[in-house]
Amino acid sequence: MATYRSEAIVLKRRDGREYDRLLTIFTKEKGKVDLIAKGVKRIGSKMAGHLEPFGVVDIMVARGKIQDRIAGTKLVENFPYLKSNIESIALLVYFNEAVDRIIHGNQPDLKVFQILAETYYSIEQYLKRNSSNANIQDQILIALSYILKLCSSQGLAPSFNTCFYCKKNLKEEKNFISERHLGTVCPLCRSKEESLYSVSSTALKVLRLMNQKTLATIKLKNLNPRIFNEVRRIVNAFILTIGEREMYSYSFLSVFLSK
Ligand SMILES: [Zn+2]
Repeated sequence: MATYRSEAIVLKRRDGREYDRLLTIFTKEKGKVDLIAKGVKRIGSKMAGHLEPFGVVDIMVARGKIQDRIAGTKLVENFPYLKSNIESIALLVYFNEAVDRIIHGNQPDLKVFQILAETYYSIEQYLKRNSSNANIQDQILIALSYILKLCSSQGLAPSFNTCFYCKKNLKEEKNFISERHLGTVCPLCRSKEESLYSVSSTALKVLRLMNQKTLATIKLKNLNPRIFNEVRRIVNAFILTIGEREMYSYSFLSVFLSK
């Protein structure tokens, strides 16, 4: 029987027949794949604990005629801080859903695997460092910044520096967001597209910072909630454009922001 091994991250899981689970997993070797895990809902299943979302796990996959199946697992990284924080879990459910929307299946992509693992590591580290004063806004900014990197890795880099239409550098003034073109439009080109909406120059600065290769998370701390909401809405709108579908976990995550 043909098999392969890979480091993997569980993005999504749902119930299969009887004790089985169907998993959408991002693997280092094959990219995003759907796999079946047989019998994992049985009490005492050795694999069950390893196949939860938000962990890096080493899996053995057995090729099947109809569907490939997970034949064995070994835990690589568990992220205990992250998994014991309900807000962070809500955030990563959202993050994983975004990844599932942005990334297509069955294409190996080491860069994507690194971005996923780094996102978990970054949030784990953030929680470790800020045990008493961790807040969900900071964590969302970290995750959104990685979502922007994920878009870039797929050739869908949003542009926050120049106008989509005239290509001129944006000035420090009220500019506009084009969800359709994943970018920004200057006031002079505003009439070229309907359904643009305005974006403050501060929110644009934050988006540029988040779009950079190295994320200065510290600089984003204590961001004004109004600016934060602008940034969050824009990145979420871009995910909708790319994925062409609603993000179901968006409202679940919002519960933790309105507290
Ligand atoms: Zn323009």
